[in-house]
Amino acid sequence: MHISNRSRHDVVIVGARVAGAAAAMLLARLGHDVVVVDQASFPSDTISTHAIARSGVVQLRRWGLLDAVLASGAPAIRQVTFHAGGESVSRTIKHKAGVGLVVAPRRYILDTIIAAAAQRAGADMRLGVTVTGVQRDSRGRVIGISGHDRAGAPIELGGRYVIGADGLSSRVARSAGAAITQGRPAGGAAQYAYYAGIPWAGMELFVAERSFAGVFPTHHGQACIWVCTPSADATAARRRTGSREEAFRQLLERSAPQLAERLRHARRTSPVRGMLRQPNQVRQAFGPGWALVGDAGYHRDAVTAHGISDAFRDAELLASALDQVLSGGAEESTALGCYQQQRDQALMEIFDITCRLAAYPAVPAFIELQKQLSAAIDKQAAALAARPVPGECLLATA
Ligand SMILES: Cc1cc2nc3c(=O)[nH]c(=O)nc-3n(C[C@H](O)[C@H](O)[C@H](O)COP(=O)(O)OP(=O)(O)OC[C@H]3O[C@@H](n4cnc5c(N)ncnc54)[C@H](O)[C@@H]3O)c2cc1C
Repeated sequence: MHISNRSRHDVVIVGARVAGAAAAMLLARLGHDVVVVDQASFPSDTISTHAIARSGVVQLRRWGLLDAVLASGAPAIRQVTFHAGGESVSRTIKHKAGVGLVVAPRRYILDTIIAAAAQRAGADMRLGVTVTGVQRDSRGRVIGISGHDRAGAPIELGGRYVIGADGLSSRVARSAGAAITQGRPAGGAAQYAYYAGIPWAGMELFVAERSFAGVFPTHHGQACIWVCTPSADATAARRRTGSREEAFRQLLERSAPQLAERLRHARRTSPVRGMLRQPNQVRQAFGPGWALVGDAGYHRDAVTAHGISDAFRDAELLASALDQVLSGGAEESTALGCYQQQRDQALMEIFDITCRLAAYPAVPAFIELQKQLSAAIDKQAAALAARPVPGECLLATA
């Protein structure tokens, strides 16, 4: 059975999580005909911890979604405690760029809130659809996607534009032939698990030699406990212990002994998950008939916990650029070239800091980079807060 074939949509988006659902919501609010496909069902989790930096919280607020995220039970985090070298410093999160909190909602809840907002704005969401490649016309221009549903029935969807929001291993990027324009060494691992049964006092960050660990309080009184290390250390711990849970426990013990001690009184409610080797790369952002957003276009180590915020920023930059093309206000190469340029300019400072942190310099240098990161995030949050909100007139119905 073909679900739909030559019906041409304005935009076909592959991937319905933070990048794809946000782009779909904004494009639909701007009045465009958008269809989103994802092989997953929702609500569902993905491999990711989920602290949203100020820059990402600003986007949720501007798009009218922050109240829904807080109402879902994600605690408003107003205090961050930094532990290093036996000392602890607590700071209240200042009110800047319109927000005075950060938040760490579980992905199965966050992604569903954004996907629901996209549907409310008019985007057509088709789940359980796996895309196998892009379709091209005789001149090589991308004109749609091919794939299949869970039963294996073929699906074809035509679009003036295909957006790959399908994550790091993006099928759209590979099928469209998107080049990697910047590749940096991949050096870091990030692992996490959920714990319940003890109180959490805001976000906590623990810096030690060759590691960065922490606490992100989340839904249902639980916290996401995570540890980032060089890949070699994570892999060696797994080999030594033969168990991901025991390896995680040993890495935490080494990185944050106080936290490991507190966790003896808590209950682990999930298996240990994560990624042992995280690429740092930027891909070409567009070509004839296609564009990339989110991890599909730019992937970085999770040590800076900025991927969700990157996805939100770039979804808005891309939606604004495509809106100009679709409404006849700009040539494709001008508008999408501008998207690529804005994306690359916006990501560069935090990408640099991320790659330097992911090399795990000595503790004083790591702390200095954290300060630079905090200033860079504030700068980005202020720049985003100053932008006009795409489709703002429809916010009342968000
Ligand atoms: C261990 C770890 C910890 C992290 N911690 C944080 C953090 O604390 N804060 C933060 O901001 N970021 C964090 N990140 C980064 C963040 O998870 C990503 O940047 C973010 O998920 C990117 O969103 P996305 O929508 O681009 O892609 P994804 O979340 O990867 O979603 C892609 C979607 O595309 C779908 N898809 C893929 N291929 C196909 C196909 N062929 N057909 C149909 N559908 C397809 C998938 O099913 C998926 O739903 C972390 C990442 C990792 C790995």
